[in-house]
Amino acid sequence: MKKIEIIKPDDFHVHLRQDELLELTVGHCSESFCRAIVMPNTIPPIASVETINEYKEKIEFFNSEFKPLMTFKLLKSLTADDIIAMQEAGALAGKLYPAGSTTNSSDGIKDWREIAHLLTVMSDVGLVLSIHGEDPSVFSLDREKAFIPQILEISGEFPQLKIVFEHLSSAEGIAAVENGPENLVGTITVQHLLLTLDDIIGGSLNPHSFCKPVLKRPEDRDAIERVVLKGNRKFFFGSDSAPHKITNKENSCGSAGCYTSPVALPLLVDFFDKQDKIELLEGFVSHYGADFYGLEYNREKITLVKESWKVPDEYSGVKSLYAGKTIDWKIG
Ligand SMILES: [Zn+2]
Repeated sequence: MKKIEIIKPDDFHVHLRQDELLELTVGHCSESFCRAIVMPNTIPPIASVETINEYKEKIEFFNSEFKPLMTFKLLKSLTADDIIAMQEAGALAGKLYPAGSTTNSSDGIKDWREIAHLLTVMSDVGLVLSIHGEDPSVFSLDREKAFIPQILEISGEFPQLKIVFEHLSSAEGIAAVENGPENLVGTITVQHLLLTLDDIIGGSLNPHSFCKPVLKRPEDRDAIERVVLKGNRKFFFGSDSAPHKITNKENSCGSAGCYTSPVALPLLVDFFDKQDKIELLEGFVSHYGADFYGLEYNREKITLVKESWKVPDEYSGVKSLYAGKTIDWKIG
């Protein structure tokens, strides 16, 4: 039987949600990942020392070995002192959500200049700026492309600021990071690496593949695949795993977000194996992101085994990506 052992990975972009979903998400995330950059778009948002500490404690309650890497949501109301206090409380990154771009983002930022003074502080103290790079005012397939000028403006204005263009979904987004400054990197999800818009609307409607930014054309997926298979260190794994209850997905006003924590690592090893590039998996999931964030590599290892399994139809009222389908690799 084919198997490999790698450093247990990190997930550099995850939505663990809250309340009754938290036990499920922490359980699945910690099976595959030692650490995860935890997104702050909860209700209320994570945007203070108190909310950071409280959320971290709730996550660690379900698995004390798992290391949540905390972030805060950039709000106009924050001050420079708030930013420094949140870093002292352990936050590694601040997340910029353009207003109206995704789940719980109506309190987001309309123009990055509104928070330029906060970005100055983040740059000075070495906090990472994490960006949901979409302009919600334009046609859905073009939203990421339309946001690129703003990302380049920010990185031009703050040349020392470390910036992550999250969940890249377009050939233009990939090119912007690839050709951009050294401190501009991008995360890649498993759904944007493997799927296209046809996996949502090409046959009958599949709401469980629907996320923001929406899956795009084959040529966009090919661009993502190309940089991953080159082992380009500017691109690393962030699942953007974002569960919603089945009732909120299979709905006339269905929520955006794919739940991938239980399937992402098996799908990734399968992808690299089928491309005959399995040696590139460990860099993508366990090295490049840690290098960018200035973190030590994890000491723990994980074994992945080439053995087929059927993804359950649901996990406690949540359907994951590939639910009911067979994946050829599993966690050993
Ligand atoms: Zn996200």
